[in-house]
Amino acid sequence: MQTIFEPGKDIPVIEEADLCVLGGSCTGVFAAVRAARLGAKVIIVEKQNCFGGVATSGLVNIWHSLYDTEFKQRIIGGLTAEVIERLEKRAAVQNTTNSPSSAFNLNTEELKIELDTLLTESKVKPLLHSFYVAPYLEEGRLEAVIIENKSGRGAIKAKVFIDATGDGDLCYQLGMDHYTAQGLQPPTTCAKIYLGEQLQSFDYRKALSKQGSEFGLREDWGWRTFVPGLPNTFMHAETHVFGANCAIATQLTDSEIEGRRQVRAFMDLMRKYGPQDTISLAALPSTIGIRETRHIKARYRLTENDILTGVRFPDAIANGSYPVDVHHQNSSGITFKYLDGTQAVIDHRSSGTKRGRWREESESNPTFYQLPYRALVPHEFDNVLLCGRMLDAEAGAFGAIRVMVNLNQVGEAAGVAAYLALDGALPVGDVSSELLRKNLAKGGSIII
Ligand SMILES: Cc1cc2nc3c(=O)[nH]c(=O)nc-3n(C[C@H](O)[C@H](O)[C@H](O)COP(=O)(O)OP(=O)(O)OC[C@H]3O[C@@H](n4cnc5c(N)ncnc54)[C@H](O)[C@@H]3O)c2cc1C
Repeated sequence: MQTIFEPGKDIPVIEEADLCVLGGSCTGVFAAVRAARLGAKVIIVEKQNCFGGVATSGLVNIWHSLYDTEFKQRIIGGLTAEVIERLEKRAAVQNTTNSPSSAFNLNTEELKIELDTLLTESKVKPLLHSFYVAPYLEEGRLEAVIIENKSGRGAIKAKVFIDATGDGDLCYQLGMDHYTAQGLQPPTTCAKIYLGEQLQSFDYRKALSKQGSEFGLREDWGWRTFVPGLPNTFMHAETHVFGANCAIATQLTDSEIEGRRQVRAFMDLMRKYGPQDTISLAALPSTIGIRETRHIKARYRLTENDILTGVRFPDAIANGSYPVDVHHQNSSGITFKYLDGTQAVIDHRSSGTKRGRWREESESNPTFYQLPYRALVPHEFDNVLLCGRMLDAEAGAFGAIRVMVNLNQVGEAAGVAAYLALDGALPVGDVSSELLRKNLAKGGSIII
């Protein structure tokens, strides 16, 4: 590859903090807020114009159940529950069903403002429209990160760093061991679409199966849901961009364009084969919804068995009940594996759902699973924690842990662990899991 030489230059140190969080989805925001509430000086860097990640910039508006699969035991609290309560005051959240597969529909525009408020109240220093670009090391230790925004390049010095960029940009550039799964879960361009009443009851899934190819749409599987406070407007996640790795800039660009093309094609199909009624594009995401890119190797790799058999960890920092949910990479379709031993495989819309079992029936089933603190600790660099979809996990485990109610808790644990590392002047890997769990519980998390 041809190269050019960029001359070195002095970079101003624009901020100094105890903790610097890179990436501002709820994962990153919750990490920042939990550390700041304990007294750390925190800065958070986000490349978009708002916080919230896939939930806001990507339009994805469902948070799953806070209970175990039997709805007897509350397993999730902390900032997820607090934000739900705050949104309830503005009628910006609606509890839908008692199912681990859906629970809370959010108005994610309101979520954007709620996350701003949460950060401001906690005195976290926010930096939007700012892209993390490079690490700065002194004697092998991460001392600062370089960011770039309208004001140019600047360095942020901190004692501890949390990588919550989804793609693990910091860990990757630090040269940490990482991998990209063979069957990456494909991205989706979501869209908010206004539908007249007649179109609302149109069986568009059947039309997609029968006539989708006329619009360049493959047989696929998707879903739609309502948005609280916006009657007749639906959040559609109908299609996938197959075979794309969105951690590669050119593939990300192609995926954005193809995803938006798919949204238009879907609407054109509705226009042609649905009843004559109003259909308008209300909102496109400011980023394609990325399900999976690279994973960073950590002290613990979560296995599908950990999830499906509900393994209990002494250093558990999060609990979940959402099933294993894997969107197939190259063939359209999705596989769900449930904690009760059943499974559902949907190849595509027209083939329907094939129900069965992934294991024999047993007398009792686990009702939730756990994530250990070790999964957030990388092998290298003692002042870096990772959280979010970059976690080290087998495909089946990733299919379950990737949902937001799970990753929100991981963010909170990273924030509290970072504070404890600072407080004790310890490597992040030496933080006592007992103390971590105690402090998480004190701050409202449900620790089991
Ligand atoms: C289409 C789709 C539908 C889904 N449906 C659901 C659902 O219904 N419910 C559910 O709970 N989960 C769902 N998921 C999964 C879930 O949304 C994601 O797994 C989760 O949001 C990932 O969280 P994250 O914090 O790791 O990453 P992200 O949400 O991607 O956040 C990463 C953040 O870091 C920022 N960032 C990245 N790189 C940089 C950088 N270099 N500098 C600065 N900032 C950076 C990004 O802008 C972003 O804000 C869905 C995912 C997709 C894509």
